[in-house]
Amino acid sequence: MDKFIGYLNFLQNNLNKFYEQQSPYIACQRGCCLCCKNAQFPFSEMEFNYLIQGSLTLSKEVQNKIEENIAKVIKDKKEFNGETFKYDCPFLIDNVCSVYEYRGIVCRTFGLIEENGDKAKIPFCHEEGLNYSNVVDKEKNTISQEKYLALNEENLPLAYNINYNLLTSKKVEQEFGFKFGDKKPLIDWFSE
Ligand code: SF4
Ligand code: SF4
Repeated sequence: MDKFIGYLNFLQNNLNKFYEQQSPYIACQRGCCLCCKNAQFPFSEMEFNYLIQGSLTLSKEVQNKIEENIAKVIKDKKEFNGETFKYDCPFLIDNVCSVYEYRGIVCRTFGLIEENGDKAKIPFCHEEGLNYSNVVDKEKNTISQEKYLALNEENLPLAYNINYNLLTSKKVEQEFGFKFGDKKPLIDWFSE
């Protein structure tokens, strides 16, 4: 676990720099939690164990709320007939992450643009007037050069290599000396 935490600190330091560089385009703040809703949240076994370690530090009351949320999501999943089951993260309590310091890797990248071949992945929340909404061309779902220039900001809106599979790759395991283990949607760690 220590080596994993070492990697998390290394990653978080880099991500903090990216968020700082992108600050003219970032609207993230405490209580804004759209990115913790209606998604799948991939978690490796190592990340999951760390998250649980964090949840054990919470008050009994909050732990009970999380358990209730988990039970509800599992029930919803059982009743779901579609292709991809999405849900609100059970660790989101009163619109705040209850395990923030212990959150997963994917959670740490939510607000940035992800490199993705020819077409960068812009955070979906630009549609809600949040991240990058001041520079997105909504029709093309790309960054608008015109809007960027009009802002007169020094730092360009940039895409980063923050794909989840890349951040949890074998190369990372070798470099930092630990194994992530299996990976699956967060809720499946509870329901399978
Ligand atoms: S990524 Fe978007 S939805 Fe999530 S906290 Fe930041 S602004 Fe809010
Ligand atoms: S662990 Fe925390 S940051 Fe990650 S999705 Fe859940 S509530 Fe959001």
